[in-house]
Amino acid sequence: MGTPPEPHRAAQPDAGPGPATRPAPGTGPPAPGTATPPAPSTATPPTSAAAPPIYPLSLRLEGRRVLVVGGGPVALRRVAGLREAGAEIVVVAPRLTPALADLADRGQITAHRRGYQPGDTDGAWLVLACTDQPDVNEAVAADAERQRLWCTRADDAAASAAWVPAVGRAGAVTVAVNAGRNPRRAAELRDRFVDTVSEGDRSAIERQEPAAGGERVLGRVSIVGGGPGDPGLITVTGLRRLREADVVVADRLAPLALLEQLPPGVLVVDAAKVPGGPAMRQDHINHALVEHARAGRAVVRLKGGDPFVFGRGREEVEACLTAGVPVEVVPGVTSAISVPAAAGIPVTHRGVSQGFCVLAGHVRPGDSRSSVDWVALARSGMTLVLLMSIDHLAEIADTLIAAGLGGGTPGAVVSDGWSRQQRVVTAPLRDLAGAVRAASVTNPAVVVIGDVAGLAAAGLGLPGAPPSLGAPPSPPSSPSLGRDSSPEDATSSGGSVSQAPPLQPGPGARVGGAGGQEGSARRVLVLGGARSGKSATAESMLAGDGPVDYVATGAPPGLGDAEWDTRVAEHKRRRPPHWRTLETLALAEVLAAPDPAPVLVDCLTTWLARIMDECGAWDDAEGSAWVLADRTEQMLQAWRLTRRRVIAVSNEIGSGVVPDTASGRWFRDELGQLNARIAADSDEVWLCTAGIARRLR
Ligand code: SAH
Repeated sequence: MGTPPEPHRAAQPDAGPGPATRPAPGTGPPAPGTATPPAPSTATPPTSAAAPPIYPLSLRLEGRRVLVVGGGPVALRRVAGLREAGAEIVVVAPRLTPALADLADRGQITAHRRGYQPGDTDGAWLVLACTDQPDVNEAVAADAERQRLWCTRADDAAASAAWVPAVGRAGAVTVAVNAGRNPRRAAELRDRFVDTVSEGDRSAIERQEPAAGGERVLGRVSIVGGGPGDPGLITVTGLRRLREADVVVADRLAPLALLEQLPPGVLVVDAAKVPGGPAMRQDHINHALVEHARAGRAVVRLKGGDPFVFGRGREEVEACLTAGVPVEVVPGVTSAISVPAAAGIPVTHRGVSQGFCVLAGHVRPGDSRSSVDWVALARSGMTLVLLMSIDHLAEIADTLIAAGLGGGTPGAVVSDGWSRQQRVVTAPLRDLAGAVRAASVTNPAVVVIGDVAGLAAAGLGLPGAPPSLGAPPSPPSSPSLGRDSSPEDATSSGGSVSQAPPLQPGPGARVGGAGGQEGSARRVLVLGGARSGKSATAESMLAGDGPVDYVATGAPPGLGDAEWDTRVAEHKRRRPPHWRTLETLALAEVLAAPDPAPVLVDCLTTWLARIMDECGAWDDAEGSAWVLADRTEQMLQAWRLTRRRVIAVSNEIGSGVVPDTASGRWFRDELGQLNARIAADSDEVWLCTAGIARRLR
C-alpha cells in the first residue's frame, strides 16, 4: 500500500481512485477536521469558469455515521482519515482490502460484505462513493442527493457534490487545501503550509518574553533517537523537535548531519566533549539538560539509534523528573535492527529465524561483569545481534561454538551502517573475527550471527533515495547458505568483505561463507508432463544417497479415487525402504529444517493445487489471492535459502490440460510462474518427455 503518510500530513486530496488520466476533482469543500482554507484565489470552480467558488466547511464527525461504499485502496485511504476524525464508519463492499477486513474484524468499523443497496445511506451524515464502478457510485450519489446528504464521488469529481481536500496538521492547526483540478499541487501546498505553521510556532516560542515578575517559562527536554548514520532515519516527530530546539546536546553516534540544518543561534553541545570521566560525564550531561530547560529552553538530547537501547536514555529521563523538568522520549530507529538491514539482513525471516536477541559485547564472556548466558544463547535458535562487540568478537565466537553453536553458522559484521563508509564482512562464525581483523573493520559495527546473516546482499538504497536504476539486487546465490551447517564441515573458506555504501553498493558486495556444494547440484527441478517419467528420474538422482525425505504433496490415498490410490501405491513401491515419506504441504518448513537428509518434493503441481484448495482459490474466495501469494512466496524463499539438497518434480503444463475455467487458468498461470521462479533458483533443470530426461540447464 506504499509508504504510510506522515502523521501530520494525513489526508489526500480527492483525486479519484484511478490513474492520473481520470478527471481530477474541482475545488471542493474540505471534509473532516478544522480547516484553514487557502486564499480564495487558489480555488477554481469545479465545472466551468462561470461556476461559483466552493464553500469550505469543517466537519465534526466524532460519533457520526459516515457511509463508505467500496472496499478498495481509495476506501482504505478515506477510512484512515475518517477514523482520525472519530467518525462511526460503515463500509459496504463485496470485497475488502486485507487492512479494511482487519479493521472490520477488530470491530473498528462496521462492514457489510455485499453490494450497495438503496437504503444504505439512511442514517449517515456523509457518504463517500469510492467504488471503481461508475454506475454504483452514481447510484450512491443519487440516493444521497435525494436525502440531501453530502456525497463525494471518487470516480467523477465533476459530478461530485463534495470533495476531500489535502489535509495536514501541525499541532492544533489543520490545513486543508483544494487546488483546482490538481491534487498533487494541493498536496504540495498543504506541505508548505504545514511547514510554515510549524516554523511560525517556533518563532512564537523564540519571541516569548519572560513572564511577569521576571520568571521564565519552564522549558522541556526531548530525548530524541536520531537513528544510525543517515539523517533521513530520524522520525518525523524527532525532526520537528530538532527544528524547535534552542539547545541540542548531541552524542558522537547521533546523525550529525542533522546539526547542519539547525537554524543559526541554536546552541549545540557536543556531549562527547563534556568534561569529566565516564561517570561524571553522564552527570554533566544530565546537569546540562536540566539547567537549559530550567532557563526556559527547548532542549533536544540527540542520540544515535534509539535512546532506550544501550543509550542511557532512562537515566536522563530520571534526572529530569527528579529536577521537575518536563521530559519526553521520542523513540528512534535502533542500529540493532536497521544496520543489519542496511546490508540486506533481516533480523527475522520466515522459515529462517523466529526471533532475535540484542546484546552488548563490550565485556568479555568470562568477565565477572558479564551477565549474559552464552550457553542459553547458543541454543536459542535465535538471531544474535551484538552491539559494541568488535573488540571481543573472537572470544564471543569461541564461547558460542564451545556452547554448541555450529562454527559454520553464518555471521556478518556491518560497520558505519547507513553511511557512505559502510562496510560489510561476512564469514562463518568460526572465521568471523579473523575476517573482521583482516579487513580492519572497526567500531561502530553491528555483528549478526545466525542463518539470516547469509542473506547479506548489496543493492539496497538509502531511505528516501531514488530507486537505483541498475539490475535488482541479486538473490543470495547458492553459495550463501550452501553448507556450513555443521562444525565438522571443513570446506568453509574465510570471509568476504564488501565496501558497500548503501547508496551505491559495490559489485563486490557478496554473501559470505563457503562455496557451493561442489559435485552434486543442490537444487534441482525436474519438469515433465503426466506419465513422462519425471518422478522416476528424480528418484534415480538420489538413488545412491542415504535416507531421503520424500515429500508427498498429493492427496493422501483412501479418499475414493481408485486411480490415484494405485499411483500412490506404485510410487511407494518404487521408493527404497530407508527413505522417509512425509505427507505434508508444509514445504517451507521441510526445506528450512536443519536436517542433512536430501529432500525429494513430489510434486510442486499437486502442492499448488492443494494450496489453492486450502485457501479457497478454486472458488475465488475473498482474500484467496493474497493467501496464495503469501504461501507461494514463503515456499520460494525457503527454496532459495534451504541448506538441504533438494529435488523438486513439477508438471510442465500447457493450456490444454487444465479445466477451461477462470480458476483453472489461474492455476495454469500460477504453476507456470512457480516453475519459472523455482527454475531460476535451481542449479539444474531437467525436462522429461516420453521417459527421456534431458538437462536444460
Ligand atoms: N542507542 C543505539 C546504540 C548505542 S550503543 C542504537 O539504538 O542504535 C553503540 C553501538 O551501536 C555501537 O558500538 C555499534 O555496535 C552500534 N551502532 C550505532 N550506530 C551504528 C552504525 N551507524 N553502524 C554500525 N553500528 C552502529
